[in-house]
Amino acid sequence: MPTHILVAGGGIGGLATALALSRGRHRADVFERAAVFGEIGAGVQLGPNVTRRLQQLDLGQGLAAIAARPDALVVQSAGSGAVLARLPLGDAMQQRYGAPYFCVHRADLHTLLLDAVRARGTGALVTAAHIGQVETSDDLVCVSSTDARAWEGDALVGADGLWSMVRRQLDCACADQPPRITGHTAWRALVPQSALPAALRRSRVDVWLGPRLHAVAYPVRGGDWLNVVVIAESAPAGDARDWDQASSLAALTQAMGRSCAGLQALLDAMPGWRAWTLSDRAPLTSAADMAHERVALVGDAAHPMVPYLAQGAGMAIEDAVALADALGSGSAAEVPAAFARYAEARWARNARVQARARRNGEIFHATGAVRLGRDMAMRMLGTRLLDQPWLYGG
Ligand SMILES: Cc1cc2nc3c(=O)[nH]c(=O)nc-3n(C[C@H](O)[C@H](O)[C@H](O)COP(=O)(O)OP(=O)(O)OC[C@H]3O[C@@H](n4cnc5c(N)ncnc54)[C@H](O)[C@@H]3O)c2cc1C
Repeated sequence: MPTHILVAGGGIGGLATALALSRGRHRADVFERAAVFGEIGAGVQLGPNVTRRLQQLDLGQGLAAIAARPDALVVQSAGSGAVLARLPLGDAMQQRYGAPYFCVHRADLHTLLLDAVRARGTGALVTAAHIGQVETSDDLVCVSSTDARAWEGDALVGADGLWSMVRRQLDCACADQPPRITGHTAWRALVPQSALPAALRRSRVDVWLGPRLHAVAYPVRGGDWLNVVVIAESAPAGDARDWDQASSLAALTQAMGRSCAGLQALLDAMPGWRAWTLSDRAPLTSAADMAHERVALVGDAAHPMVPYLAQGAGMAIEDAVALADALGSGSAAEVPAAFARYAEARWARNARVQARARRNGEIFHATGAVRLGRDMAMRMLGTRLLDQPWLYGG
């Protein structure tokens, strides 16, 4: 008998989980609160640790078709524009880690996963299903939506993101606590490269570091579009749960102060800036933070992080594959033991990534003497500092 698993949340983590479980011949039904499945327009970087997992899910070809393959990551001073460090990507990543470093549009990745789940046809995809209540017993899980529909299954995976309600089922101190609002705001804009002057188009990942801020630009959609993100330590923008549609370039420029000419020209040329208040949680402290009995969490529901290591979606995809591996072809009776194995296998790596992301924020945004030391270290040890074998090889 296939195990019947309910997945709350149809973002990248929820769909990757449903796909991975369907390959183990389980039935995974996905419940998404939005009226249609979709993702916001923004870019996402995928290191070789993540593209390897997507290849395992037979998405390698589809991924290559939607991705940009940047040739390098170049770190510069936001003030002077001077190059501080460079990490070759492209062939170098492929050779070193056996999988590519890609940049994709989130909506393209989401569609790739959704199409693959649909093609397998092993579970229901239910939209407009805002899960508001969860009840568990020894051998069943029942979820109800806020409009009073109910569904039963053998297990529940909470893939319901930063403000997860499923995490209340965990048996840990942090289950009921809200995320931490970091005081950092992300502005992002996305544009076809053809709409930019030639000097501003890019085929690499550019990172600019400045006092209390940094900016990142990289191509997506086969290199046809450019994604730019600026993160500054500034007052929260609008509602902490949603993108602020009205955020202007003026607000961003005010938060940034003076930047180098190259960066400023790029910011001025990008239309449609939107702002997002960044939140996270303290790093996980044990397996109990990820699963309890017949309930497990994946992605931001378990371990939301600041995006300074570009691995939040990556960890959600790693979780999905690990959860399906832990369950294998196990029966409903084996779910609690399988979820415990999954949490044990995942929590420490997720905690390390969360902690490293926070630390990167301190380094990226450094001021004064720390900034001078950082710049010197970058100049001397650049590639070694930027490469992350523990992460990309894991
Ligand atoms: C500025 C920025 C840049 C980033 N860059 C990168 C990057 O380069 N690389 C990377 O790997 N990651 C990056 N991330 C992180 C990444 O976006 C997230 O970690 C990832 O999207 C988490 O996916 P998820 O599926 O766990 O959660 P979400 O994407 O939040 O999906 C949760 C889903 O659950 C649904 N939902 C919520 N509550 C309920 C409910 N009660 N019932 C039913 N459905 C519900 C939501 O509608 C949503 O569809 C970045 C994040 C930001 C903010």
